[in-house]
Amino acid sequence: MFFEKPSRVAAILALLALATGSSPVAAEPAARDLFGAKPVPSAQTPEAIGFYSHGCLAGGVDMPKDGPTWQVMKVSRNRAWGHPALIDYLQRLSRQAAAEDNWRGLLFGDMAQPRGGPMKNGHASHQIGLDADIYLTEMPNRRLSDDERDNMDLPSVIDPRTKRVDERRWRPEMLKLIRTAAKSREVQRIFVNPGIKEKLCKTAGGDRAWLNKVRPMYGHDYHFHVRMYCQTGEADCQPQESTGRDEGCDLDWWFKVALKPAPPGAKPPKPRPPLTLAALPKVCRTVLAAPARRGGEPQIAAQPASAPAAPAALALDAPDGGAAFPPLPGAVPIPGSRPLP
Ligand SMILES: [Zn+2]
Repeated sequence: MFFEKPSRVAAILALLALATGSSPVAAEPAARDLFGAKPVPSAQTPEAIGFYSHGCLAGGVDMPKDGPTWQVMKVSRNRAWGHPALIDYLQRLSRQAAAEDNWRGLLFGDMAQPRGGPMKNGHASHQIGLDADIYLTEMPNRRLSDDERDNMDLPSVIDPRTKRVDERRWRPEMLKLIRTAAKSREVQRIFVNPGIKEKLCKTAGGDRAWLNKVRPMYGHDYHFHVRMYCQTGEADCQPQESTGRDEGCDLDWWFKVALKPAPPGAKPPKPRPPLTLAALPKVCRTVLAAPARRGGEPQIAAQPASAPAAPAALALDAPDGGAAFPPLPGAVPIPGSRPLP
């Protein structure tokens, strides 16, 4: 009985501390801050871990800034990293588009951070190295400067008034490119603005089976988003459900409901709290803690198993980033006002 009172007081105090948030245990940091702070990939065998909007990337490789049929935009964001399968696929797609679809070459946007994971701004997915944005603007016939890559105008093909494709900006080659990407066996789905989806549905002609992979989404009006399947043998990669066989050309809900402006005075949707490391697959802790890979060369092939892991201190001097990497701009323009995949 003697101890009863103090222990009850302690218990009540502890409860109060929990309820008021004054617990001595600090709040877990947002995973986007932890992954955003890693300028170099992990020295690990490449692997996509978790789900597209809920995971991370081991052993990421980077897309070379320039290729014969592509250029990487927004280089300063340091988001042109991916699973080797993605980097390889995008290069092949750019060659095919140049050979068959009348594209001089492709302009690539965000892929993933060096170790994947959530980003501070711009995307809910792009976390496991199997997503990429491709601009609907053709690669110019010269190499762009870094400044141009960060600031060049990449116009929308959607008329903001009608929410439909602006015919002055739309080119038939855009359908050809999206069709080529959608027909790839490696591609799981593609996201485009509902206005673009409508245009594809109207102009696809008789060859339509590929339309099922092209899904309408907010934004995506000056670029489209390609998502690859999980790679064979990567058990920690969580596949997404099939897009089925439906062409998905019934867009009524989009134009009659989703794209209508919110009524005046409507409450904006509550932003979701950022993902913590605890919310991601456990293996992502290992990815975050793994030594950095040394060297800046793109490594399309997986590293040999015997390759020694580089100490983190060495990798900070690597030419592909390290401490010298410039900070991300405060606000990356995001099309539309809703969360993007
Ligand atoms: Zn995207």
